[in-house]
Amino acid sequence: MIYLDYNATTPTDPLVVEAMLPWFYEHPGNPSSRAHRFGWEAQEAIDQAQYQIAGLIGADPREIIFTSGATESDNLGLLGVFKKYRHKGQHFITLGTEHQAVRDACSEIERRGGQVTVLPVGQDGLVNPETIDRAIRDDTVLVSVMWANNETGVIQPMAEIGEVCKRRGVLFLSDGAQAVGKIPVNVKDAGVHLMALSAHKMYGPKGVGALYVSSRSPRVGIAPQMFGGGQQGGIRPGTLNVPGIVGFGKAAEIALDSMHQEMERLSGFRDVLEQALTVSLPAVFVNGSRSNRLPHVSNLSFTGLEGDAILMACARELALSTGSACSSATPDPSHVLTAMGLGRHRSKAALRFSAGRFTTETEISRSIELITTTVKSLRATSPLWDLYQDGVELP
Ligand SMILES: *Cc1c(COP(=O)(O)O)cnc(C)c1O
Repeated sequence: MIYLDYNATTPTDPLVVEAMLPWFYEHPGNPSSRAHRFGWEAQEAIDQAQYQIAGLIGADPREIIFTSGATESDNLGLLGVFKKYRHKGQHFITLGTEHQAVRDACSEIERRGGQVTVLPVGQDGLVNPETIDRAIRDDTVLVSVMWANNETGVIQPMAEIGEVCKRRGVLFLSDGAQAVGKIPVNVKDAGVHLMALSAHKMYGPKGVGALYVSSRSPRVGIAPQMFGGGQQGGIRPGTLNVPGIVGFGKAAEIALDSMHQEMERLSGFRDVLEQALTVSLPAVFVNGSRSNRLPHVSNLSFTGLEGDAILMACARELALSTGSACSSATPDPSHVLTAMGLGRHRSKAALRFSAGRFTTETEISRSIELITTTVKSLRATSPLWDLYQDGVELP
């Protein structure tokens, strides 16, 4: 079975599992226990993980707050800022291509009386920083733009957007779940004040994440969304998941060490895959900017077919997805591709290939073979493909 769905989740690196193991039984301490060695060593392990994660994104270790994942981090960042900055204003700005976690947290902001402007992106999936500049009002509190898109891999012009936010005096939050650990990310260089991270998107365990919150120029305030034992300065209380956090830290360390090599290896695979599929098959289109894109992601539309049909026909040997794992239960075309202005047919014809650390060259070659034969055979009986060949423009 070939796994090309790394954007949905990554396997936990065996080195990460190894680092986590002692923290289940041998070192069982609660970092909040201040009276004995078990507690102290657990706190040291947390400090170490903060240091490793901060090092990966150019932050200060004290700026890392642990959560259960990027969904919680997006919610904590958006709703926490909304509550804290009500006196300043209640207007938020985001994009139509954001992850469901950001979209739904923004809907909640509206339910709580705030206003949200959802900005369009171009056909390439990129937002124009000037569009953001024009959308900022006197009562705008925060702009939320994901670093890299989970469905297309498109990387936004972060530094330019950060520049606009700085000049206009608004906060800048970014969902970094797909970018961190895969490409160089520096929150200070990009002017990002809050960022959501997820361990399981970068070879760490599931159920662990972090929110980076800038502590200096500006010092960002966050109102807690949960209440309890006062851990993490009360911003996100609850006993810390020590083994998970240790694994997250180790995953960050490995990512930093292997990033440049992996970027090169995986972009090579991606280029081979795209080249092969677009040459051996007619009417296969790349969705999203080809130049500003994660090295390991390819989103392709196979005209005349539904992505779901290809996926199903290959499912015995190949694990792929049509887009976000979080919304794959709905029959509607991807909100990301729709927001990019792609037509309904092209959006439904899309498949996302996302490779990663354990992908091999042999697996890429086999995937090319499999997709090529499957698409050819499905097209042979597709009325839509016949229409397309007769020159009919598909909606
Ligand atoms: C996976 C993902 C999330 C959700 O992260 P969890 O840790 O699974 O909650 C949020 N945003 C993006 C861009 C993602 O890819």
